[in-house]
Amino acid sequence: MKISSVETYILQAPLQQPFAYSQGWFRARTAMIVRLLTDEGIEGIGECFGPPDLTAAVVEKAYAPMLIGRDPLDNEVIWEELYNHLRDHGQKGIVIEALSGIDIALWDIKGKVAGLPVYKLLGGAFRTRVQPYATGFYRRGGLAGQEDALVIEAETHARAGFRAMKLKLGFGLEEDRRCARAVRRALGNEIRWMADANHAYDTSTALRLGRVLEENGYEWFEEPVIPEDIEGYRRLHDALDIPIAGGEAEFTRFGMKTLLKERCLDIVQPDCCGVGGLTEAKRIAVLANTFGIRCIPHVWGTRIATAAALHLLAVL
Ligand code: CA
Repeated sequence: MKISSVETYILQAPLQQPFAYSQGWFRARTAMIVRLLTDEGIEGIGECFGPPDLTAAVVEKAYAPMLIGRDPLDNEVIWEELYNHLRDHGQKGIVIEALSGIDIALWDIKGKVAGLPVYKLLGGAFRTRVQPYATGFYRRGGLAGQEDALVIEAETHARAGFRAMKLKLGFGLEEDRRCARAVRRALGNEIRWMADANHAYDTSTALRLGRVLEENGYEWFEEPVIPEDIEGYRRLHDALDIPIAGGEAEFTRFGMKTLLKERCLDIVQPDCCGVGGLTEAKRIAVLANTFGIRCIPHVWGTRIATAAALHLLAVL
C-alpha cells in the first residue's frame, strides 16, 4: 500500500457572536483537516490544532512530497522522518501541529487496514467511558461584570447533562474572583469546576487567584502563567494545593520533558492534534505516568479531534 495523495482542507465559519478569552477575541471558528489517500482506496483523516493557513502550508510544502509513495503502515518511521526533516527549524508550534494531523490520518488508515479501532492498536482500552467537561464561559457582551451571563451558561450546560465545567479566567484578579465565586455558588456542589487563565498572569497574581480557586473547591488551575515560565509554574506547584494543569502550548515528548522533570505540573494536557499526533501523545502519556503526573488530554477542534482524543483517553 502506498500513499497516493495528500489533501488539506481549511474550514472556516464566521461567528455570529464573537467571543473573548484572556488573550483576544475569536471572530471565526476554524479547523484544518488532513486527508491521506492510498493506491488501495483506503483513506485516512486527521486534524491539526493551530492556525489553519499555516499548518496547511507546512503539510503541503514540507511534508506532502515526503509522504507520496510511502507505506502508511510505517507510521512511526514516517513520524521520525518528518520530524527530523524540520528538526532544525521547527521543534515546536505550527510545524509539529502540521505533523500531528498527518500522524492521526496514518493511524486512521492503520485502523481501517486492520479492521480495528485505533485504541486497540495503541494497546487496548483501560476505559470505555469518560466524563466530559463543558468548556465555555467565554466573554461575549463585555470583559467585565459578566457573572450573571456565566451563571446562565452554566445552568445551560447542567441541563445538557454536564457534571463538570471549566471556567475561563484571566480578566483581572477582582473580576476573576467574582466570577469564580458566582458560578460556584449558583450551581452548588454537584458540579465539578476547573479554571483556565490561558496564561494571563505573572506568578504572584496567579498565586493569589490560585488561593481563591482553592477556597472555592476548584479541581485544577490551568495555564496560570506563560508557558515559557518554567520557574513560575514550579513556584505555583510548590505553593498551592490546587492541581496545576498545563501543556497545551508545549510540543512533543522533548518539550514536555522539562515540565515533567522539573515538577511544574500536576496534570499534563497534551493535545493529540498539536503535540505530534496520537503517536507522540501516547509517548507523553507514558512519560507522565513515569513521573507520577496525571495526563488529561486537551481538545479544541472538530469531531475529528474529539474522536482522536477519545482513542487516546481510552488507552490512558
Ligand atoms: Ca486551556
